[in-house]
This record gives sequence, structure tokens and C-alpha cells, in this order.
Amino acid sequence: MTLGNCLILQDFKSEPFLGWLEVEDGKIKRVVKGRREDIDQPLEGKLVMPALYNTHTHAAMSLLRGVAEDVTFEEWLFGRILPLEERLTEEMVYYGTILAQMEMARNGVVGFADMYFHEDAVARAVADFGLRALLTRGLVDVGGDDGGRLKENLKLYERWNGYDGRILVGLGPHSPYSCSRGYLEKIFDVAKEHDIPVVIHLYETAQERYDLEELLRLGLGEVKVIAAHCVHVPTEKLPLLSKLNFYVSHNPTSNLKLGNGVAPVREMLREGVKVTFGTDGPASNNTLDIFHEMRLASLLQKMKDPSALDVETCLKMATVDGAEALGFEGGAIREGFEADLVVLDLKKPSFFPLKHAKRHLVHAFSGEVFATMVKGRWVYFNGEYPTIDEGEVYKKLAEIEEKLYS
Ligand SMILES: [Zn+2]
Repeated sequence: MTLGNCLILQDFKSEPFLGWLEVEDGKIKRVVKGRREDIDQPLEGKLVMPALYNTHTHAAMSLLRGVAEDVTFEEWLFGRILPLEERLTEEMVYYGTILAQMEMARNGVVGFADMYFHEDAVARAVADFGLRALLTRGLVDVGGDDGGRLKENLKLYERWNGYDGRILVGLGPHSPYSCSRGYLEKIFDVAKEHDIPVVIHLYETAQERYDLEELLRLGLGEVKVIAAHCVHVPTEKLPLLSKLNFYVSHNPTSNLKLGNGVAPVREMLREGVKVTFGTDGPASNNTLDIFHEMRLASLLQKMKDPSALDVETCLKMATVDGAEALGFEGGAIREGFEADLVVLDLKKPSFFPLKHAKRHLVHAFSGEVFATMVKGRWVYFNGEYPTIDEGEVYKKLAEIEEKLYS
């Protein structure tokens, strides 16, 4: 398939040019400057750019959006969210994850890292809808018993890791405050043995004051880690983290909304720590919009230093670094790369002047993209979802709302 006659932004470093590209077998076959008359998918007035990645969420929490506002993190989690989560069935989690992917595709996101339960249903939803995902079963061992969660996570790994080149499975220790030290050590050992990543909440709240070096001794330093939040990470330890296979998932909206503060992203980047963007679950954000996170993150860091988190840095974190954190090849529209891309409609007031279109991606664009492609397949195109029956999904969601909230 050929598509284009539009602006193409090949990666975060380059500037957009007029061109077209050819996609074959899920890969980008060529990228050509100029116009082509007999094009399969004309995209005049559009911009094609590398897709975005959401490195931390709990996708099915899209079912719990708006249930707990204006409360502390403790009240949010223990008072409101956990009691509702006990009522979520596998089918609900499946449709919650379809809904989340509908929203992410509309926001230009092609891949996400998930931590939740009924994760087999999450995998089926990803297989059906068509995004990419790094899936983990949330692991806790309150009172020394994990209720078979680690076994479940390993089953998920055996069943789904590598599926269609789109699904990867890691391990999901929830946090150092909900996992015993022995349990964490075991999880890191299993991650090492299978060479799979670990997704964990780390230093989210000011109360989290555990010893980073202890975690490293338990094995955190020997595996690939996506650490969500790191708002209260001891900054003197950042040089240590920069030497590891360690990716911070920066979730500025969730951190602000739950009153947890602002992560020291400038300091992290200065020390060479890899930072990516996440939304966290839609019950604490309440959206799954990485364009929004980019802009907010940039503004928050600019509060003290206007040169912080410039446009290219934000785009790099959201595209190539996000893909790398999840374990996918991404972040560039080049020959031989996976055909994962996002199309934006430039006929919007916020894209004028077009000369600075790349800057507008971070500081002016808001709203939905025109289309999103994963592995050469449109998962969202001009208001439509080619991979699902949208009417059926909304019908199921209405039934779920009835069951959960009436
Ligand atoms: Zn989270």
C-alpha cells in the first residue's frame, strides 16, 4: 500500500518534508520525497509521524474513570478503587481494555505497558483490537501469600509472550510497599531467568522512603525495569539508576491529580536516566493521552528552567524511548522499520504556521489524531475502528456500567 502526499516527520530529530511511503507486510518498504499521482491512500493536508507509547497504565481502569476525584492517594486506592475492582469480571476487563485501546488509538498511541488482573482478558483484547502491549499481572503478597499471582503471571507469559509480534509479557510487582522483600527477590530471579522486564510503581508518594540500594541488592539492578512515577526518588541515587537497564515512566497528570508532586525529570535527564511517558490508569488521569502528558511534562519542568524538556526531547521520550522501554522497535518512519505511524490533520488552527508543525505537536496540538496504524494495519481511521464492531462494544459497555454502578 502506498500512502502520503503529505508531510512526513521521520523521527524526533528531523524536520517534516512532503513525501509518500510504501507499506508492505507490516513494514515500511520505502519513504520517498515528493508527490506521487497514483497513490492508494492520499493524505493531503496531513502529517505522518512516528507513533507514541504509553509506558504505564492499567487499561481496564477506563471502566472506573471519574469514580474518585479530589481525594488523597490512600482514599483513592483503598477507599474507592479497590472495592470496585473486586467486582470486575474477566469480561469487564476485556471490554475495559478494548475501550482503553480505542482511546489510545485516537490519541496516537500504538503501544502500552499494562499492570492489572484478569490479564489474560487484557491479552485477548490487545490481540483483537491490534495495539502493541507489554503485559504484566499485578503482584502483591499481603501477609506473605500472593494468592497464586506469580504463577498466573508466568502462565500469561507462556501463553502470550511474542504473540503476533505485538504482545510481550513481563512481571508486575506492584510496589515495594505491597510486596515483601523475599517476594521481590523471587520476582527479580524469575525475571532474570526468563530475561523479561519488570514493571513496578516506585517512589510515587512522599511516604515511600525505602532503601534503593536494598532493592538493587534484591535484584532490581539486574533486570530491565519500567519504574512508574519516581516522584520521590532520592536524587543523589540518580547516577546509579543511569547505569542500569532502568526506564522511568513519568506520569505527570496522575502525580498532580493525586497530590503526589512533580518528578525531578530535569535532574533525571541530566544524570542520564532514561525517562518515558505514561498516563497511569484512567481512574487517576483521567485520559490516555500521551500528547497531553508531553505538554504538561514540558511545562512543569519549565517552571524553573524554560530550556528544560524541549520539543525534541519530549518527542524522543514519547516515541523512540517509549518503544525501547516496552521492547518494541519504534520511533522512526524509515525503510525496514515496523509500519507503526500516526496521521494528524494539519487543517486545524493550532497547526498554523505550518513551518513550525513539529513544535506544535508538543505545545499547541490537542484533540484527536486522524488515523493510527500498527504493523501496517489501521486500528483507527477518521472516526472509525476497522478492527472492532464499535456498536457492539458500546452496547457491552452500557451493560457493564449498569452492573457496576446501579
Ligand atoms: Zn499505576
